[in-house]
Amino acid sequence: MYTGECHCGNVQLKISHLTKTATRCNCSVCRRYAALWGYFTESEVEITVGKSGLESYEHGDRYISFHRCQNCGCMTHYTSTPKAQSDRVAVNYHMFPMAVISSVHVRHFDGADSWKFLDE
Ligand SMILES: [Zn+2]
Repeated sequence: MYTGECHCGNVQLKISHLTKTATRCNCSVCRRYAALWGYFTESEVEITVGKSGLESYEHGDRYISFHRCQNCGCMTHYTSTPKAQSDRVAVNYHMFPMAVISSVHVRHFDGADSWKFLDE
């Protein structure tokens, strides 16, 4: 079991395994969040939110909802909205210990333009 948390500990993310790769995306929103995404399904991630709660943001087609801790502001994960009809949840690996971050292979996704991995 791997546990990640926001800086203040209000939001916890638990995953049973690590993904083979993590995605750094340069689209308009991901590049601003500077997130390192790991993709899971809803049932694979246990999310615990404390008293401080979450704030969420959706944009464009509103298929995904980005969540950040309302106390410390860390972008912890995103979930798919009902409109997306998907059970994808992405965790931000930057919430996990350094050993976890350094063990996943980072791929660069060109979400801003070609919608392809730049290392292909
Ligand atoms: Zn926090």
